[in-house]
Amino acid sequence: MDYTKRNCEACDQPLVGRAGKRYCSNQCRAAASNRRRSEDAGERLMKETNLKLRHNRFVLQRFSPEGKTTLKREVLQVAGFDFRHFTHLYRTRQGNTYHFCYDYGYLLLEEEKVLIVNWQPYMEKNKV
Ligand SMILES: [Zn+2]
Repeated sequence: MDYTKRNCEACDQPLVGRAGKRYCSNQCRAAASNRRRSEDAGERLMKETNLKLRHNRFVLQRFSPEGKTTLKREVLQVAGFDFRHFTHLYRTRQGNTYHFCYDYGYLLLEEEKVLIVNWQPYMEKNKV
């Protein structure tokens, strides 16, 4: 019988058997493969979310390179802006809540409009 000094990659028990064996049993092989799959799903989700956030920032920047621009909400939607994704919130003393995508943010206004702003250093103090 071939004996290796390696351990099972799932349960860490010493492996007995052919060289190059990675798991002690089919259960351990299946457990490792399930774990890998769910880790991949997490990575995929984060990658997709990051892409959405980057696209949101790109859209805000495109329509308001210097900040402080008011436009129709629809304009952002047509450009693929996803209102469900943002990086952080900023609440003013007046109670307005800005949603930020990195350094660009927006405030929802009446009549389906949005005000786009740039992140300002003083906002750091009032982060929600
Ligand atoms: Zn095992």
